[in-house]
Amino acid sequence: MRRLVVVGNGKSADVFLRQIQQYKHDFSITVFGGGVPHRRPAWYRNHGIDLRQDVLITAIDRHARVAKGSDGSRTTFDRLILATGSSGLIPPGLEARRGVIVNRSLETSDGYVYAIGDCAEIRDAAWRPSLDQQARLLAERLVDESLGVEAHRPIHKLKLLTSPRIAASRTAGELTA
Ligand SMILES: Cc1cc2nc3c(=O)[nH]c(=O)nc-3n(C[C@H](O)[C@H](O)[C@H](O)COP(=O)(O)OP(=O)(O)OC[C@H]3O[C@@H](n4cnc5c(N)ncnc54)[C@H](O)[C@@H]3O)c2cc1C
Repeated sequence: MRRLVVVGNGKSADVFLRQIQQYKHDFSITVFGGGVPHRRPAWYRNHGIDLRQDVLITAIDRHARVAKGSDGSRTTFDRLILATGSSGLIPPGLEARRGVIVNRSLETSDGYVYAIGDCAEIRDAAWRPSLDQQARLLAERLVDESLGVEAHRPIHKLKLLTSPRIAASRTAGELTA
């Protein structure tokens, strides 16, 4: 399994976490919080998410791919999402102005690090996705990247394919429309 670390557990992280649960994926997810979580601890447990709500990330070693926590922990990652809001951590070395600069894939200047929500500043001024759209797009993007382009089909729609008759009579594109 690949290790996904989410820094911040505010509004955009919450949308992202709910969205990625809609898909099959191969990430083990750790979330570092601060503040009050949007959901009960059981929700995170039931979805296999390791929630460390009381731990703030104090530094990120992008080269070693390690997030350092305020409790002294060191958590390695394959992909990291910054969702730290308007006054959160901006790791040194990342291209940033008001926020961390991201492209249309929500990717920062480090290809292993993404940013969504108020901490992100989209380079393309003509593209203005809402916070929810950013979080959803990133969930789909990461699932696609790990499992293949068609993988981000929602699980409840994939279930339609269990009927061979329906599966044979429709294309995948029709099912996801
Ligand atoms: C009073 C008020 C009213 C608002 N009303 C509206 C509204 O009506 N409609 C609307 O669309 N928007 C509203 N907003 C704005 C909205 O709340 C923000 O746009 C939204 O919360 C941003 O989401 P986010 O996930 O980017 O950041 P946040 O929701 O701020 O979450 C960021 C989280 O990251 C955590 N964090 C930061 N640094 C670290 C770190 N180093 N390690 C671990 N965790 C960290 C923080 O503790 C926080 O929990 C309002 C904001 C305020 C202050």
